[in-house]
Amino acid sequence: MTDSSIEKENQELKRTLRLVVSKAERNESVLNSFFQVELRLLSCARLSELLDLILIEFKELFRLSNVNLILFDPEHAARSLLDDYIPPRPGNTLRFVQSQRLLKSIYPNQKMIIGAPSASLKSEAFPVTEHPIESCALLPLIRQNCLIGSLHLGSNDATRYTEHVRYDYIQHLASVVSVCIENCINQENLHRLSSIDMLTKVHNRRSFDQEIVRELSRASRSEHPLACLFIDLDHFKTVNDTYGHQTGDRVLRTVGLFLNKQLRKTDIIARYGGEEFAILLPNCDQNRALEIADTLRLKLSRLIFRDEDSTPFRMTTSIGVSLCEPGKYSTLKLDNIAYQLIQSADKAVYEAKRSGRNQISFTPFPTTDKKQESEHG
Ligand code: GH3
Ligand code: MG
Ligand code: MG
Repeated sequence: MTDSSIEKENQELKRTLRLVVSKAERNESVLNSFFQVELRLLSCARLSELLDLILIEFKELFRLSNVNLILFDPEHAARSLLDDYIPPRPGNTLRFVQSQRLLKSIYPNQKMIIGAPSASLKSEAFPVTEHPIESCALLPLIRQNCLIGSLHLGSNDATRYTEHVRYDYIQHLASVVSVCIENCINQENLHRLSSIDMLTKVHNRRSFDQEIVRELSRASRSEHPLACLFIDLDHFKTVNDTYGHQTGDRVLRTVGLFLNKQLRKTDIIARYGGEEFAILLPNCDQNRALEIADTLRLKLSRLIFRDEDSTPFRMTTSIGVSLCEPGKYSTLKLDNIAYQLIQSADKAVYEAKRSGRNQISFTPFPTTDKKQESEHG
């Protein structure tokens, strides 16, 4: 071998080495970004947050033209958590199915599908598209051997997903997505179950005690007033004694449903005790709170209930109103304000009862912090 041929070979080897190193670096960066995505998937606490990451951010992170998701949701467990969720455009990026028929037709043997999709597969996986789909990865989402959904990654680049390349990392991503979806649904439903009252389906007292501090914190930041209503059903014991406990339960359920329908989405409604409901009205001044309380009192008094034999009867309520105005937020601790707000509403209910029931009453927020005073003797 001559010197010049050794040198030539050396240059060739160096070039190959540079290519290999640069490919290794690219691979490392891809793996690293997958690792980051995985961490983000695992840190989503809410289903809506997880869906936004998959449907919106995946598109940018993986430079895709379409991301679609189908979820098998036979008992509305996922949908019930997504009341206010608006899936990204174009339409049909998120679909729910009640039977597994569609999923089974896409994945006859539960294996991922890679490459250029057939026309029928394209219309099932990407019903509405802004860009043509030249290649795709259709990933079955599987938990405990059961298809729980399908994730569709679409690209307008025909070489992006090809049959001859192994896509172990995408397969892994699909497993992580499956676990995260299942986990978010379970966690959120569990949290919901632990914070609602099973009879009336409004918040329970424990949840109300957390919400009031959260709302006070929000109100203090935005310098808005927060009103609190306590609703106590009048002579409810007589309803039980006259019509039976089951009918009494039905009355409570109806009142819970009624309150939920009457109020804004941002208002918090809770069953505070046996026949007592508590309501938080964010950004509501005294006049408005009194107006709302009196409207509720009037409408509740007009509701017609029926006992087991369909005998109709009506019922009245006494409503106590209290209010915390922005000036108070800076001087007291939030849990102290919460305590005072609840105490004042409770006192107002007592006043409404004392004045003859079926009425509303207002107790102003105390000017001195009685709890702190008593704590300090
Ligand atoms: P007032 O007008 O003074 O509020 O009279 P009241 O009878 O409504 O109040 P009282 O505190 O004397 O009685 C409350 C009743 O509410 C007694 C209790 O049996 C009934 N109650 C509490 N929880 C439930 C429940 O979950 N279901 C039914 N059916 N009744 C309940
Ligand atoms: Mg009571
Ligand atoms: Mg009562």
